Amino acid sequence: MNISLFLASHFVLLLAFGMIPSPANAQDLTAREVIARIQQKVGLDWQEGTVDTFKSGNPDAIVTGIAVTMMATYDVLERAVADGHNLIITHEPTFYGHYDQTGELTEHNDPIYAAKAALIDEHGLIIWRFHDYWHERDPDGIRVGMIKKLGWDAFPEILEGTIYKSPPTSIEKLARDIKERFDIGTMRVVGDPQLVVTNLAFAPGFPGFEPQRRLLARDDVEVLVMGEAHEWETILYGADAVAAGMNKALIIMGHIPSEQAGMEECAKWLRTFIPEMPIAFVPTPEPFWAP
Ligand SMILES: [Zn+2]
Repeated sequence: MNISLFLASHFVLLLAFGMIPSPANAQDLTAREVIARIQQKVGLDWQEGTVDTFKSGNPDAIVTGIAVTMMATYDVLERAVADGHNLIITHEPTFYGHYDQTGELTEHNDPIYAAKAALIDEHGLIIWRFHDYWHERDPDGIRVGMIKKLGWDAFPEILEGTIYKSPPTSIEKLARDIKERFDIGTMRVVGDPQLVVTNLAFAPGFPGFEPQRRLLARDDVEVLVMGEAHEWETILYGADAVAAGMNKALIIMGHIPSEQAGMEECAKWLRTFIPEMPIAFVPTPEPFWAP
C-alpha cells in the first residue's frame, strides 16, 4: 500500500470513529469548538482548578446535538441518546463527586459506575460540566432562571438575586406555591406553617452550612428557601431557631428542583449563539418518592 492510500484509509477510519472533524459540512462543530464558543460568550477568564471541564468522550468529535441538564444521570443520558444528542452539558457531576474523581470507582470495579461508563462509551457521549462559570457569570444564570420560576422577580430585592420582599404570606402557603410551581414530590419544611412572613431568602444547590447560616441569621430574613443541607448542620440550626422562639423557617426544595430552571435558562441562552444544531433541555427527575 502506498503512503497516500494508507493515509486515506486511516482518515476514513478516524472519520468513522468521529475522531476528526468531517470536512464535508461547514456547519459541523466539534465539542471543543462548541465549548470554546461558550467560554468566549461567558466573558470571564477560565481559571485552573475549575470543575467546568470534559468528563468523558472525545472533545474533537462532531456534535450531533446538545442535551442541557441539571445532573447527567443514567436516565438523562439514555434520553439524550434517544434524541440523537451526543454532547451533554451538565450542571452537576456525572461520577458522584465534585471533581468527578473515578479512582475508587474503577479500583473497586464498582458495578454502577461500570454500567454508566459502558453507556457513555457505547454511544460516544461527550460530557462537559457547566457549573462554576454559569454561576459566576453576571447575573448568575442559575439564579436568573430560578427567581423567574419562583415568581419572585415581581418582588422588590433586598439583596440582589438572594433576598426578596413578598406580600405577607404564611409558610404553608409559600411552601405549597413552590411545591406546585416546581412539581416537587418530597419537599420538606422546618418551622410553623402558620407563621406569616414577608422576607424570603433563596440559596440554591448545596453551598454548605456557612452561607446558609449567614442568610438565616440575618434580621431581614424570615425564611430560607434552599436546595439541600446536611441534616446535622443547617437543618439542626433551623430547628434550633424555631425552638428558641424566633420567627424563622426553612423550605427545603431538594438540590435538583432548586437549580433546574437555571439550566433550562442555560439551554435558551445557548440557542442564541449556537444556531448550527439542536439544543434540548433534558430535565433531571427528582429521584425521591414518599411512601
Ligand atoms: Zn449550582
